[in-house]
Amino acid sequence: MSKIDLKKEIRVIKDFPKKGVSFKDVTTILKSPKALKYTIDEMSDYIEDKKVDIIVGPEARGFLFGVPIATKLNLGFVPVRKPGKLPFQTHNVDYDLEYGTDKLEVHVDGIQKGQRIAVVDDLLATGGTALATSRLMEKVGGEVACLNFIIELTELEGRKKLNKYDIQSLVTYE
Ligand code: AMP
Repeated sequence: MSKIDLKKEIRVIKDFPKKGVSFKDVTTILKSPKALKYTIDEMSDYIEDKKVDIIVGPEARGFLFGVPIATKLNLGFVPVRKPGKLPFQTHNVDYDLEYGTDKLEVHVDGIQKGQRIAVVDDLLATGGTALATSRLMEKVGGEVACLNFIIELTELEGRKKLNKYDIQSLVTYE
């Protein structure tokens, strides 16, 4: 696989969705066959060595990358969603936001006890989403084998919050 400079494929938008946020837009990766294949291949290669049974992705961008990785590795995919979106019975976890709390949910039959899980998302910022997803996976009897991101915002120190986990990120921004 020829290496590509993935940073060149990510569109950065200043002050979106609010002032002070530098938004990393991965739709530019999705529309590029070369960048998309490279991203899926790099993340799949990492996960392949971790003896993973299932790929899990939080909504919404975790779905976009989690499903092709699952397909490539001959694994299934389980979505983690905000409350009220999943149609069947769910388990949930509460997590803290800057102001207040939120919940994430997974179907009660999504994860089997003892399954090894790779959590896939587009971006690691504060780590709140990844930590809540990981806790939910552990609550339902899964084992988090690795956390896989395209982008890591190092200044927000999400890794510190997730220090007991094995983390992959393809590109970093300060
Ligand atoms: P966090 O829970 O703080 O680690 O935030 C991670 C989630 O928020 C990911 O699912 C990202 O899609 C989204 N996110 C947070 N910050 C950004 C950013 N600067 N650009 C794009 N997406 C972001």
